[in-house]
Amino acid sequence: IPVDDFDLVIFGGTGDLARRKILPGLYRRFCAGQMPETARVIGAARSDHSTEEFRQMVGDAIREFSKKNECEEEGIGAFLDRLDYVQVDARGEGGWDDLKAKMRDDVIKAYYFSVAPSLFGDLAERLMSHRIADPDARIVVEKPFGRDLESARKLNADLARHFAETQIYRIDHYLGKETVQNLMAVRFGNILFEPLWNSQYVDHIQITVAETVGVGGRGEYYDRAGAMRDMVQNHLMQLLCLIAMEPPSRFNPDAVRDEKLKVIRALEPVDHHHIVRGQYEAKGEEPSFREDVGDPRSRTESFVAMRVMISNWRWAGTPFFLRTGKKLRARTSEIAVVFKDAPHSIFGEEAGRHANVLSIRLQPNEGITLKVTIKEPGPGGMRLIDVPLDMSFAEALGEEAEEITDAYERLIMDVIRGNQTLFMRGDEVEAAWAWTDPIIQGWELRSDVPKTYDAYSSGPEDAAMMLHREGRRWREIR
Ligand code: NAD
Repeated sequence: IPVDDFDLVIFGGTGDLARRKILPGLYRRFCAGQMPETARVIGAARSDHSTEEFRQMVGDAIREFSKKNECEEEGIGAFLDRLDYVQVDARGEGGWDDLKAKMRDDVIKAYYFSVAPSLFGDLAERLMSHRIADPDARIVVEKPFGRDLESARKLNADLARHFAETQIYRIDHYLGKETVQNLMAVRFGNILFEPLWNSQYVDHIQITVAETVGVGGRGEYYDRAGAMRDMVQNHLMQLLCLIAMEPPSRFNPDAVRDEKLKVIRALEPVDHHHIVRGQYEAKGEEPSFREDVGDPRSRTESFVAMRVMISNWRWAGTPFFLRTGKKLRARTSEIAVVFKDAPHSIFGEEAGRHANVLSIRLQPNEGITLKVTIKEPGPGGMRLIDVPLDMSFAEALGEEAEEITDAYERLIMDVIRGNQTLFMRGDEVEAAWAWTDPIIQGWELRSDVPKTYDAYSSGPEDAAMMLHREGRRWREIR
């Protein structure tokens, strides 16, 4: 079903994110027939390009990053015809009137800020001072949304000076993933799970986001951020909220976001004994983290594992273990709900005992699986084995670029539809920083040095020990 007609301006339209994710994502929506015939995408950036050059750049990006060539060359041409380009400087006055002249009346207008966050305030201000944005205009902002509570508050205030909260779409592409929404369908569309979804039946929950890549070309940024700011404060926190929140009364933006906010506010401060930070070491020809960021004394973490508790009736006593890192054994994102053992085994201990595990896998192979116990087939007597009950019909997704684009596609269409459910609200982001800040400050005060770990391992030994001490263990990263 096509969305309403729109003009979408991408500030930073020539940048890496626009070329790898946003524009190929739009192209795929175009191929799917979701873009109305007259909808337009306007690239806006500081560099000087003709519209023709911009189209060429986007065509190359689509061929490179949109692996499944949905509507072939002919379709690419038709999509490129929708594109326009204007040179603007976020910090200067040049180009803004040209942009205004290109915008149509009576269509939805969305402005994607795919630029450094230090430019968000300038863009918001100029969209208003040049009378470009109308009261229904939407702005989309990328991560990182601040580096601590203070800077996030300032960003929120800079945007709020010109735009209402209902106009601001803070992207967290994890929320755009099919399985994340499927998680909500499984939780709230079935009667089976919700009665068990509490500390009486759940032993613990694990959230893992493991990457195989190192910091790549983003060394300078990453050395100032670290895994806590780059991944935990946003992506892992959002996943934690969706798994732990109370059922919202409706699947609408504020009902969902109110419940997520309550989870963040109920998080207990984390004692430093319950956190392990790590840095990857060199492997063969490949550099260590410190070499990658160009600082031989860097104390930034490329890995963090932590035990988080939620102070409310539902979750008191159930630990949530979060773990994320770079250069780990495999690229995988997974949430696992590990249920308690059955209270009594009628088959005797020799039959084996198995806990049910609900695993929600975001990548690779998006899907939801429930591990259940059955009898081992055959005449060998009553022996119990585990089998996976597969609850997803999403096809196994292949290439990395396609998965991510998928999330971006969905989210951009939600912006045009005016649906904020899968976007972070300003108070959520601030609450997440308010919880994260003391942890990071604690490391700084103690001059905490991360443990080292072998590249392509499961992380520092201490992370395994953290669970081992309490008779639990991490799920394998694979
Ligand atoms: P980039 O450096 O590749 O591109 C920056 C873009 O901003 C360019 O188009 C440039 O022309 C434009 N720009 C810079 N200064 C400008 C100015 N004064 N006025 C107008 N335009 C200006 O950056 P990127 O990697 O595309 O990242 C963009 C944003 O998205 C950043 O906030 C980044 O943190 C975020 N982000 C990027 C990725 C990614 O994979 N690249 C992922 C998540 C979030």
